[in-house]
Amino acid sequence: MLYRTNSRTDKKISALGFGAMRLPVHEDGRIDYDKSKEMVDYCLDNGVNYFDTAYFYHNGQSEPFLGEVLEKVRDDVYIATKLPVLNVHQYEDIEKIFSDQQRKLRTNYFDYYLMHALTDFAQWQKMKEYGVIRFIEKQKAKGSILNIGFSAHTSTSEFIKILDDYDWDIAQIQYNYLDEDIQAGSEGVRYAKQKGIPLIVMEPIRGGVLANPGQDIMDIFEKAKEKKTPAQWALEWVWDHEAFIVVLSGMSTIEQVKENIKTAAQSPPGCLTQDDKNIIGAVRAEYKKRIKVPCTRCCYCLPCPQGVRIPDIFECYNNYYMLSPEIARDSYAFRTMKTDAPDGKASKCIECGLCETKCPQKINIIEELKAAKDVLETEEVLKRQKKMVEEDKNIL
Ligand code: SF4
Ligand code: SF4
Repeated sequence: MLYRTNSRTDKKISALGFGAMRLPVHEDGRIDYDKSKEMVDYCLDNGVNYFDTAYFYHNGQSEPFLGEVLEKVRDDVYIATKLPVLNVHQYEDIEKIFSDQQRKLRTNYFDYYLMHALTDFAQWQKMKEYGVIRFIEKQKAKGSILNIGFSAHTSTSEFIKILDDYDWDIAQIQYNYLDEDIQAGSEGVRYAKQKGIPLIVMEPIRGGVLANPGQDIMDIFEKAKEKKTPAQWALEWVWDHEAFIVVLSGMSTIEQVKENIKTAAQSPPGCLTQDDKNIIGAVRAEYKKRIKVPCTRCCYCLPCPQGVRIPDIFECYNNYYMLSPEIARDSYAFRTMKTDAPDGKASKCIECGLCETKCPQKINIIEELKAAKDVLETEEVLKRQKKMVEEDKNIL
């Protein structure tokens, strides 16, 4: 295993981190303990020392699972978990969730504690109003949190605003060879580096989709001098950057664990050759031909008076054609889920036209939202979304 140093703590972290959100499960949705434990044990035996979970992963089962399998090696590994910001409505919620997490993970301290999946600056402001800074700083002073951070699914500008608003120890972003221009993007990466904030990468294989491309993409990979699997290409592309201290992969099989550990061991910063970069450039261009709406996620169209999450919807809509309908619908269900904010679905648009006057890309937002609604807002998606809301309530 190769290790990278967190410049703020001088601690060495394995280049590959274990993401506990896509563990093998039984038919009824329970985590398959034996298979999952085999994966964790293999990681431990091969130098992986960073384990990432969150309150809602696997409907609340991920934290207790990791707590159990890591209990004996607790002080030899880094555990990261996250505060589910959408479910915080008052200071007491933060206290309750945090102590639940300590109990489930069988530890009284978290190496990394992150605000989970901030989507914009306003959401972070809301957390501040609930007193989150008072809470996390109190826990840090007690040694119950060692590093404070946030994970983000924002536009670049919102990411930068959040980054500037607090003295973060760490930030976690979605990044892979298709995401240089969306979410935090390369500009966000440069900005964090300039501020000296270490970055963690999630979704290096875009939820596994980049590991299973169609034949047209495989034909491009096959032209490379060195043969690699699609997952290896995706991971190496991220590890080629030195800005990232750990790359999380949400693995589902022992074979994926073995392959990713092998790749991690041979992927220091600067590992890609020019030939490799050309191949990835050609693959990226092929994927991008399928983009339907040229939305840059600049967010100038927001706020929509109806709460429609325009850039999120267009990202899902593009992913529907570029990657996979299933992943796009899952993501749509999650991002437009009803919380205490408006639920943000495409169907909430009342065609007032306000957003269209502000879009620098001159996107016909109203018509494109209708098209996105037709493929994303299916009955099945709405049912799944309702179930997700119920499950969240039960976990809390
Ligand atoms: S046209 Fe629709 S999406 Fe645009 S601002 Fe009005 S309600 Fe929101
Ligand atoms: S203003 Fe246009 S390009 Fe920017 S996020 Fe909105 S729809 Fe996308």
